[in-house]
Amino acid sequence: MLAEKMIALGTERSVIRELFDYGKGRAAVVGAENVYDFSIGNPSVPAPPSVNETIRRLIDEIDPVTLHGYTSAAGDAGAKAALTASINRRFGTNLSPDGLYLTMGAAMSLTCCFHGLCCPEDEFIVPAPYFPEYKVFIESAHGKMVVIPPDTEHFQLDLAAMERAINPHTKAVLINSPNNPSGAVYSEKTIQALADLLETKSAEYGHPIYIISDEPYREIVYDGVQVPYIPKYYNNTLVCYSFSKCLSIPGERIGYVAVHETVEDWQRVFAAIAGAGRALGCVNAPSLFQLVVAACADDTADLSVYTENRRLLVDGLRALGYSCVEPGGTFYLFPQSLEPDDAAFSLRARDDFDLLIVPGSGFGCPGHVRISYCVPTQRIQRALPIFGRLAESYRKK
Ligand code: PLP
Repeated sequence: MLAEKMIALGTERSVIRELFDYGKGRAAVVGAENVYDFSIGNPSVPAPPSVNETIRRLIDEIDPVTLHGYTSAAGDAGAKAALTASINRRFGTNLSPDGLYLTMGAAMSLTCCFHGLCCPEDEFIVPAPYFPEYKVFIESAHGKMVVIPPDTEHFQLDLAAMERAINPHTKAVLINSPNNPSGAVYSEKTIQALADLLETKSAEYGHPIYIISDEPYREIVYDGVQVPYIPKYYNNTLVCYSFSKCLSIPGERIGYVAVHETVEDWQRVFAAIAGAGRALGCVNAPSLFQLVVAACADDTADLSVYTENRRLLVDGLRALGYSCVEPGGTFYLFPQSLEPDDAAFSLRARDDFDLLIVPGSGFGCPGHVRISYCVPTQRIQRALPIFGRLAESYRKK
């Protein structure tokens, strides 16, 4: 006997990965320049020079046994102090290094929060559209994911629907702003209203309802959009951050959970998260990259290409008749599909035009497709006429 659920997880391919691999296969047949791959959210710009400079410096300066050795489970004390200082400087908060738990990226930050918080019958509210892996993470912690249908007009939070969904079993609301896949950034007003709602409901049910804030795209925003730092608005917030996207180091697996002292019983909450990391065999976040991100915490990759790509794509697609909400952040665009069946639309784009775009259904938002524009700008320039031909093929129907 084997764990059937795990076999299913290990064999079911994600639609995104399938499209990505399909693109590689097609490139070998028709040439890479004739495949328009917008499937995956892998940053397309290099890490900033400070990352490699720091790696070289650390190799030169620190004895290798220490550099590559285990650290404390929650992270190296010096790295935690530097990261905490950066957070407090940037957001005007008072996070203690004892509240910072270094992880292998946002995926592990989230998994540790779900495992650390989840008791039998607990529910986690997730507004659509959402990152598809949330379901895997929540269900592996034996929690129930409760989905709030999307507001497809603005991709903002539907707080009335959220209020209806909250019940005595609600343990947390998971938000992701800037959002994958819509690119929406929740405004200060929205966050304040969410905080008010959760305070009322926590008081009504006599236990905290946490916000789990998944923010790997925090720095990737446009036109001066501000991303509110949620712990400043709501005490019982757990921040799940990752350096994957802003520093362009997704393969290095490094991020954190921040548990501010404003979280009720914060030391026990922190212990539950750290205990979950232990139970999941995480041991410690990668030692070298703990030190690298500590030194580069205030830096980002050169994100300007995403600004250029976003403008080109939004204007270009709108001119071709596509309808899309302008993203405030991330490197994703989430236009409507040209037929209600987004999977059929994505398939036609793939099979007839070698255009790889991801159906929205997997993000809990049918009738849309996700376009990842973390790609060379020339790919967008070459793809716009192809998007035009795809639209034309619907008009001919
Ligand atoms: N959360 C969201 C919304 C994401 O888009 C991703 C990755 O694409 C993750 C979490 C996981 O990121 P990480 O590489 O930090 O584990």
